[in-house]
Amino acid sequence: MRCPFCEAEETKVIDSRLAGDGFLVRRRRECISCNERFTTFESAELVMPRIVKQDGSREQFVEEKLRAGMMRALEKRPVDSETVEAVIGRIKQRAQASGERDIPSRFLGEWVLDELRGLDEVAYVRFASVYLSFQDIDAFRREIARLEGARQPKSVPDNNK
Ligand SMILES: [Zn+2]
Repeated sequence: MRCPFCEAEETKVIDSRLAGDGFLVRRRRECISCNERFTTFESAELVMPRIVKQDGSREQFVEEKLRAGMMRALEKRPVDSETVEAVIGRIKQRAQASGERDIPSRFLGEWVLDELRGLDEVAYVRFASVYLSFQDIDAFRREIARLEGARQPKSVPDNNK
């Protein structure tokens, strides 16, 4: 593939390994002209259901939009791109496994939240503030309260039972 730095056509693969629970191939490539190195991820191209938006209109699933939304939430957070790609892979699989031709956009949002919850709390809250606050501000507040509760130390066993 073409070098993203100098646009030369010849690049060589210098390392190739499985990533993202085996659903991705991660390749390190080196440009033969300028010697810059870069990483590519390869994943199966799945036929994705269409996304039904809030207003009922349908659109194609666009992986780049999903990635952009996650990257905004993960800005300056200690989560590497390989982890992000694995999450995107799992979300795509989930969408596919639903067996539906169309899925509501909020499903995607909730799946991303499910993933971020276990990955990075700050990113989770950022993403939740974008996705949940417009739909249900009370649900958002409850979720924040739940997260804050989860940070408290575990309660001492109650011996008076
Ligand atoms: Zn180059």
